[in-house]
Amino acid sequence: MESYCGIVTATPKSILVVGGGIVGLTSAWRLAREGYRVSVVDPAPGRGATWAAAGMIAPHAEVAPGEGANFELQRQALSAWQLLSNELAAVVERRIEIGVTGTVLTGWDAGDRRLVEQFRLVATGFGVNSALARRESHPEIFAGLSDRISSGLLLDGDAWLDPDEAVSVLCQGLTTVGVEFITQKVHTIEGDRSGVRVHFDAGSQSADVGILATGAFGLPHGATPTGEHAVRPVRGMTVRIDGIDRSNAPTLRCFVRGRPFYMVSRPGGYCVIGASSEERSGPLIEVGELQRLLRDALDVVPEIETSTLLETRVGLRPASTNLEPFLEVWPERRWAWSSGHFRHGVTLAPLTSRDVVGFVNEMTK
Ligand SMILES: Cc1cc2nc3c(=O)[nH]c(=O)nc-3n(C[C@H](O)[C@H](O)[C@H](O)COP(=O)(O)OP(=O)(O)OC[C@H]3O[C@@H](n4cnc5c(N)ncnc54)[C@H](O)[C@@H]3O)c2cc1C
Repeated sequence: MESYCGIVTATPKSILVVGGGIVGLTSAWRLAREGYRVSVVDPAPGRGATWAAAGMIAPHAEVAPGEGANFELQRQALSAWQLLSNELAAVVERRIEIGVTGTVLTGWDAGDRRLVEQFRLVATGFGVNSALARRESHPEIFAGLSDRISSGLLLDGDAWLDPDEAVSVLCQGLTTVGVEFITQKVHTIEGDRSGVRVHFDAGSQSADVGILATGAFGLPHGATPTGEHAVRPVRGMTVRIDGIDRSNAPTLRCFVRGRPFYMVSRPGGYCVIGASSEERSGPLIEVGELQRLLRDALDVVPEIETSTLLETRVGLRPASTNLEPFLEVWPERRWAWSSGHFRHGVTLAPLTSRDVVGFVNEMTK
């Protein structure tokens, strides 16, 4: 039995993780902690949907009719992320900062305020506590917002992290504990009871068990989905700006002319505003799409006018048929496919990684 930085490697079986988004990286971390020899294969780790994500861990602001199971799962996510952040800090002396600021949900016009009220009723049905905050009683929450917005719904316990930071700390942690990164796109996979193999342009690699964590991207050749699950891309754009620090206030969400708008603020003035949502793929940003988001942002937070535009990002949310994540296992081929995290992949990744470990343990016992 070997031990490295307190991590026990009792089972030197090898695992291939295809896809180094937040789901693949957290799975790789949990597998490495369990003592497996892990390789992550991805031409650009962290540059899929994870790259565009705002990083909200916001079960209370995300309640939606019909998504009860997902909501219960999301409620466990904050402590799972805190644990993961502590584990990584013990290895790389860097922490994934997690801000537990809650959410304030507001509406721009009368129709939008009705949407807030509808949301409140759904949230109450889910057992979520919310409180009405008014500008007079909570000036710090409404500072910098349009005068038109005089009240909002406060939702406790929601949090955020920075996906860029999470990817960076995870990659550093994984490298430190000996996880291999192969920066290649896998075009074919194979597998049978004796093990798995992946093929990429520069060669191939074998292992005992394989995990496909390719988000909304198409599966490599040789994958054998049962047909029980399917994933479709739901495209989203976020805009990064600098110059407004609301990191001590609840994360801002607002319905604006019927569209959802959010602004996640981090210490120092870095903010993510978002997000568009369309049932299509494609990396290009239409001028009108950007204009709509910025118009909503400027209406709700007028001081954005003097902030600096840093970057626009696009990602494909991996949406399953029932909008819930899944782990589809192909035991006779020693592969499992983890996807379908849709709007909540950052939130749910550390929980998914436990299911991945369960599958791998089963395959290697
Ligand atoms: C605009 C936007 C905002 C979002 N905001 C939030 C949020 O605030 N909170 C939240 O919880 N979630 C959010 N999400 C959702 C979240 O980003 C996704 O659910 C999550 O990133 C999915 O992670 P993943 O690892 O499954 O996929 P991805 O991050 O897409 O990673 C898949 C990886 O697989 C790799 N890959 C694909 N095919 C192959 C192959 N053949 N060989 C090798 N590698 C391959 C890709 O290069 C990629 O790195 C948001 C998404 C978007 C688009």
